[in-house]
Amino acid sequence: MLDLMQAMLGLYDIDRKIMRGRDRLGEMTGAVHAQEKNIEAAREKARTVEKTLKDKMFATDRLNMDMRAAEAEIGEQERKLKNIKNQKEYRIVTDRIKELKIKADEAESAVLAGMEEIERLQEQMNACHQAVGEEELKLAGSRRSAQEEADRIKARHAELLHERKRAVKLVEEFDATAYQAYDHALKRTKGDPLAEMSMDGICQSCFRRQNSNVMNIVHIGKDVKNCRCQGCGRILHVKNMVRENAS
Ligand SMILES: [Zn+2]
Repeated sequence: MLDLMQAMLGLYDIDRKIMRGRDRLGEMTGAVHAQEKNIEAAREKARTVEKTLKDKMFATDRLNMDMRAAEAEIGEQERKLKNIKNQKEYRIVTDRIKELKIKADEAESAVLAGMEEIERLQEQMNACHQAVGEEELKLAGSRRSAQEEADRIKARHAELLHERKRAVKLVEEFDATAYQAYDHALKRTKGDPLAEMSMDGICQSCFRRQNSNVMNIVHIGKDVKNCRCQGCGRILHVKNMVRENAS
């Protein structure tokens, strides 16, 4: 009774399409999720650079203030120098000026280095913001196309469920218990209930060789409940038998 197996293969084909649709929906959700993660990583990087930049600006401001304070004191000390009476006092003040000049020079170098660093960080921050913007654009595009594809898949899914009902009915018309066997195998194999058996009795899914009893039943193709692979439990069919009348 080839027609039963053919009806079952028709059902199997529909189920595979349903599964592929579901897999594709899952993939798309995963891809969008991965892009969302990329954006979060880009934002995090931007935040880190922003924080470093703020700290650097604060530190550079402080150095600038130190430099100005040293310069102001140099001015004071130089004014003091004009009214000095003795050698000892003169030395104290000139030493202090020297010390202050070193301090002011050091602060100035640090301010210049800080400003360069600030410029570099600002460029880096701009690049980060640009990267975030680009990722957001990409995500918006992906979301749009994913939504369009998901809509198509869902519309097709509704059709497939309809086709499936008809296919189930057809199988049940041939053999009331055949669908139960199919459904059992469907659940057990998580959506891959049929397998081909080679002419010498080997299941093409798990490669278990069937005993002669099962082989005979499969070749006849009538008793679906007992067409199950002894290894993986899939319903076995012989390819050439069904191909002749398929499509
Ligand atoms: Zn098997």
